[in-house]
Amino acid sequence: MSGCIFCKIIKGEIPSHTVYEDDYVLAFLDIHPHAKGHTVVIPKKHIENLKDVGKEDWSNILEGVRQATKRIEEVLKPDGINIGINDKEVAGQVVPHMHWHIFPRFEGDGGGSMHSIISNKGDVEVEEVAKLFN
Ligand code: AMP
Ligand code: ZN
Repeated sequence: MSGCIFCKIIKGEIPSHTVYEDDYVLAFLDIHPHAKGHTVVIPKKHIENLKDVGKEDWSNILEGVRQATKRIEEVLKPDGINIGINDKEVAGQVVPHMHWHIFPRFEGDGGGSMHSIISNKGDVEVEEVAKLFN
Protein backbone atom coordinates (compact mmCIF):
# COMPACT_ATOMS: atom_id res chain seq x y z
CA MET A 1 0.00 0.00 0.00
CA SER A 2 1.46 3.37 -0.95
CA GLY A 3 2.41 5.40 2.09
CA CYS A 4 2.99 2.30 4.25
CA ILE A 5 6.58 2.31 5.51
CA PHE A 6 6.78 -1.48 5.66
CA CYS A 7 5.55 -1.78 2.06
CA LYS A 8 8.30 0.72 1.17
CA ILE A 9 10.87 -1.49 2.92
CA ILE A 10 9.66 -4.49 0.89
CA LYS A 11 9.96 -2.47 -2.34
CA GLY A 12 13.48 -1.39 -1.32
CA GLU A 13 12.46 2.28 -1.18
CA ILE A 14 13.55 2.38 2.47
CA PRO A 15 16.73 0.48 3.35
CA SER A 16 16.74 -2.27 5.96
CA HIS A 17 19.05 -4.98 7.31
CA THR A 18 17.69 -8.37 6.26
CA VAL A 19 17.71 -11.23 8.76
CA TYR A 20 15.67 -13.64 6.62
CA GLU A 21 13.64 -13.43 3.40
CA ASP A 22 11.47 -15.76 1.34
CA ASP A 23 8.58 -15.38 -1.12
CA TYR A 24 6.12 -14.43 1.63
CA VAL A 25 8.00 -12.54 4.35
CA LEU A 26 10.84 -10.17 5.01
CA ALA A 27 12.54 -10.20 8.42
CA PHE A 28 14.75 -7.22 9.21
CA LEU A 29 16.45 -5.58 12.17
CA ASP A 30 14.27 -3.11 14.06
CA ILE A 31 15.60 0.43 13.67
CA HIS A 32 14.95 1.16 17.38
CA PRO A 33 15.97 -2.16 18.91
CA HIS A 34 14.68 -3.16 22.34
CA ALA A 35 17.15 -6.05 22.39
CA LYS A 36 20.31 -7.04 20.53
CA GLY A 37 18.98 -8.48 17.27
CA HIS A 38 15.39 -7.24 17.77
CA THR A 39 13.79 -8.32 14.50
CA VAL A 40 10.53 -7.49 12.74
CA VAL A 41 8.91 -10.07 10.44
CA ILE A 42 6.41 -8.72 7.93
CA PRO A 43 4.28 -10.35 5.24
CA LYS A 44 5.22 -9.12 1.76
CA LYS A 45 1.60 -8.30 1.04
CA HIS A 46 -0.03 -5.43 2.90
CA ILE A 47 -2.14 -6.87 5.70
CA GLU A 48 -3.15 -4.41 8.39
CA ASN A 49 -4.36 -6.44 11.36
CA LEU A 50 -4.51 -9.97 12.72
CA LYS A 51 -8.17 -10.35 11.79
CA ASP A 52 -7.26 -9.75 8.13
CA VAL A 53 -4.86 -12.72 7.92
CA GLY A 54 -6.20 -15.73 6.00
CA LYS A 55 -5.35 -19.35 6.74
CA GLU A 56 -2.75 -19.76 4.01
CA ASP A 57 -1.12 -16.41 4.81
CA TRP A 58 -0.93 -17.41 8.46
CA SER A 59 1.00 -20.55 7.75
CA ASN A 60 3.37 -18.74 5.37
CA ILE A 61 3.99 -15.93 7.86
CA LEU A 62 4.52 -18.35 10.74
CA GLU A 63 6.98 -20.36 8.70
CA GLY A 64 8.85 -17.08 8.05
CA VAL A 65 8.87 -16.32 11.78
CA ARG A 66 10.20 -19.83 12.43
CA GLN A 67 12.98 -19.44 9.87
CA ALA A 68 13.92 -15.95 11.09
CA THR A 69 14.08 -17.27 14.66
CA LYS A 70 16.33 -20.13 13.54
CA ARG A 71 18.66 -17.65 11.84
CA ILE A 72 18.79 -15.43 14.95
CA GLU A 73 19.58 -18.45 17.10
CA GLU A 74 22.41 -19.48 14.75
CA VAL A 75 23.95 -16.01 14.52
CA LEU A 76 23.39 -14.44 17.94
CA LYS A 77 23.07 -17.53 20.14
CA PRO A 78 20.63 -15.89 22.57
CA ASP A 79 19.79 -17.47 25.92
CA GLY A 80 16.07 -17.17 25.17
CA ILE A 81 13.54 -15.49 22.87
CA ASN A 82 10.23 -13.63 23.16
CA ILE A 83 7.99 -13.44 20.10
CA GLY A 84 4.82 -11.40 19.78
CA ILE A 85 2.49 -9.07 17.93
CA ASN A 86 1.14 -5.65 18.85
CA ASP A 87 -2.29 -5.75 17.22
CA LYS A 88 -4.16 -2.44 17.08
CA GLU A 89 -3.34 0.85 18.76
CA VAL A 90 -4.41 -0.14 22.27
CA ALA A 91 -1.92 -3.00 22.12
CA GLY A 92 0.89 -0.74 20.93
CA GLN A 93 0.67 -1.16 17.16
CA VAL A 94 2.18 1.89 15.47
CA VAL A 95 2.82 0.65 11.94
CA PRO A 96 -0.46 -0.50 10.31
CA HIS A 97 1.10 -3.44 8.46
CA MET A 98 0.89 -6.52 10.68
CA HIS A 99 4.22 -7.77 11.95
CA TRP A 100 5.82 -10.09 14.45
CA HIS A 101 8.50 -8.87 16.84
CA ILE A 102 11.29 -11.26 17.76
CA PHE A 103 13.25 -10.28 20.87
CA PRO A 104 16.41 -12.30 21.46
CA ARG A 105 17.00 -12.51 25.21
CA PHE A 106 20.28 -12.66 27.05
CA GLU A 107 21.06 -13.50 30.67
CA GLY A 108 21.03 -10.30 32.72
CA ASP A 109 19.45 -8.14 29.99
CA GLY A 110 16.98 -6.69 32.50
CA GLY A 111 13.89 -7.50 30.45
CA GLY A 112 10.69 -9.19 31.65
CA SER A 113 8.31 -11.75 30.24
CA MET A 114 5.15 -11.40 28.13
CA HIS A 115 3.33 -11.03 31.45
CA SER A 116 4.95 -7.65 31.99
CA ILE A 117 3.01 -6.22 29.01
CA ILE A 118 -0.14 -5.95 31.13
CA SER A 119 -1.30 -6.80 34.62
CA ASN A 120 -4.95 -5.78 34.76
CA LYS A 121 -7.46 -8.62 34.83
CA GLY A 122 -10.45 -6.30 34.73
CA ASP A 123 -13.29 -6.43 37.24
CA VAL A 124 -14.33 -10.04 36.54
CA GLU A 125 -13.11 -13.38 37.83
CA VAL A 126 -11.84 -16.12 35.51
CA GLU A 127 -15.05 -18.12 36.08
CA GLU A 128 -17.14 -15.22 34.74
CA VAL A 129 -14.99 -14.95 31.64
CA ALA A 130 -15.13 -18.72 31.16
CA LYS A 131 -18.96 -18.54 31.03
CA LEU A 132 -18.72 -16.21 28.03
CA PHE A 133 -17.04 -18.98 26.07
CA ASN A 134 -19.77 -21.55 26.76
P1 AMP B 1 4.78 -1.61 16.39
O1 AMP B 1 4.78 -0.69 17.58
O2 AMP B 1 4.46 -3.03 16.77
O3 AMP B 1 3.91 -1.09 15.26
O4 AMP B 1 6.27 -1.65 15.93
C1 AMP B 1 6.78 -1.10 14.76
C2 AMP B 1 8.26 -1.30 14.82
O5 AMP B 1 8.81 -0.97 13.57
C3 AMP B 1 8.96 -0.44 15.87
O6 AMP B 1 9.67 -1.27 16.77
C4 AMP B 1 9.90 0.44 15.03
O7 AMP B 1 11.12 0.70 15.66
C5 AMP B 1 10.06 -0.39 13.78
N1 AMP B 1 10.40 0.39 12.59
C6 AMP B 1 9.75 1.48 12.12
N2 AMP B 1 10.35 1.93 10.99
C7 AMP B 1 11.38 1.11 10.75
C8 AMP B 1 12.38 1.04 9.73
N3 AMP B 1 12.43 1.93 8.73
N4 AMP B 1 13.31 0.05 9.80
C9 AMP B 1 13.26 -0.85 10.80
N5 AMP B 1 12.34 -0.85 11.78
C10 AMP B 1 11.42 0.11 11.77
ZN1 ZN C 1 2.16 -2.16 4.08
